[in-house]
Amino acid sequence: MSERTIAAISTPSGEGGIAVIRISGSDAISIAEKSFRSFSGRALSSLSGYSALYGEIIDGDNVIDDAVALVFLEPKSFTGEDTVELSVHGGKLVARDTLRVVLANGANLALPGEFTKRAYLNGKLDLASAESIMEIISAKNETALRISRMAKEGKVSKKIEEIIADLLKLDASISVYSDYPDEEIEELDTPSFLSALEKTENSLSELLSSYDTGKIIRNGVETSIVGKPNVGKSTLMNLLCRADRSIVTSVAGTTRDVVESTVTLDDITLILSDTAGIHSTDDVVEKAGVERSINRLNSSALVLAVFDISRPIDDDDRELLKILGDNTIIILNKNDLKPQFDTSIFDGKQTVSISAKDNSGIENLYEIISSVVNKKKIDGDEAILISERQRNCANKAYSSIIEAKNALINGVTIDAVGVCIDDCLSALLELTGKRVTNEVTDEVFKRFCVGK
Ligand code: GDP
Repeated sequence: MSERTIAAISTPSGEGGIAVIRISGSDAISIAEKSFRSFSGRALSSLSGYSALYGEIIDGDNVIDDAVALVFLEPKSFTGEDTVELSVHGGKLVARDTLRVVLANGANLALPGEFTKRAYLNGKLDLASAESIMEIISAKNETALRISRMAKEGKVSKKIEEIIADLLKLDASISVYSDYPDEEIEELDTPSFLSALEKTENSLSELLSSYDTGKIIRNGVETSIVGKPNVGKSTLMNLLCRADRSIVTSVAGTTRDVVESTVTLDDITLILSDTAGIHSTDDVVEKAGVERSINRLNSSALVLAVFDISRPIDDDDRELLKILGDNTIIILNKNDLKPQFDTSIFDGKQTVSISAKDNSGIENLYEIISSVVNKKKIDGDEAILISERQRNCANKAYSSIIEAKNALINGVTIDAVGVCIDDCLSALLELTGKRVTNEVTDEVFKRFCVGK
């Protein structure tokens, strides 16, 4: 348990119904006692855990605000320490004045993530679960929230512990050879040892790919809207954003730069960029814009390629089609006008017919986007790596298993295989935080906000 008793405002700054000032540590109750007077005259120190008193925050003779003081006794609190939460009226001033009183009465201002760090140090949650709390706070859509909650419930740690248990068995069987080299021991069953390593390899590889899926869900899918000038890209962008982010105009070539916006459609977050029209041009400025559009097209995870079907197909359309990849949805726009475009050139491609101007066909577009993006559906039970740190650890573990496998296949000594397995174990223990340096934990909690 830490010596310092810490305090911070745990609710966001700004106006709201209530603001909560949280105090945690061995002096939490005595500090709260000096800062709060109950209307009933009862002392906070007389309360059992999970109880509350109604009263007021006091600064000497001054009353700052009415408040509810909620007491949690160690170890049954978020941090595992004695904790008091003072709920006052929402508003920057009241919360700040209450915190000032609490600090004057002996608390130290909490560092970013210090409450969660204490929960981790007191064994209330492991490192992977602590990281998921941060993701829960910043979740932008329902699926992101769901996967963060799964991680917090320990899905990742459980999966890692299963892998660790398998590896420890392998380690034990190797030790028999290293410890009693001269004894008559049955030869190592290489094929079954190899298949045990492969099982771990597969589990780690699944976990690693879960990171990519999770990242898309959390951060959004980089999506570019491309097409010739004047086909309706900006109109579509505006429609998707329901805001006037792009310049909508009938003069060809006005969207010279990339316009970005983040939209969340149901469970999918798209980082949309409306690009300059792609067409052959001699104008230097336009040329640079076209180049940027093509770069953006190539780096995007999803491409919405817009074509104007009210005009006959031309060379620019054919050129654009050549550079579109499998991650493209072809949008046949302006279907409110008389069609003049031979759409058979798109045979075999994913197409959707819309009128961006009349907002028709958009539901179909949403459905196609959703089916393309959600190809890798997250099932309710999957363990998903949610931080770069976790992925790096899993990557190290994966490389060590591959090394162990190669060593075994190439007939390198069994001790060498053991070293690789130990490296893999270290990486996995670092992932769950069971064997981790202070620098790593500090780094994880630094990313939290103050008060969490
Ligand atoms: P961009 O250059 O590709 O971004 O094209 P804009 O979005 O600026 O649209 C060019 C012109 O086409 C504007 O006059 C729009 O109002 C018009 N437009 C866009 N979508 C449609 C549509 O679905 N139907 C019709 N009739 N006109 C459209």
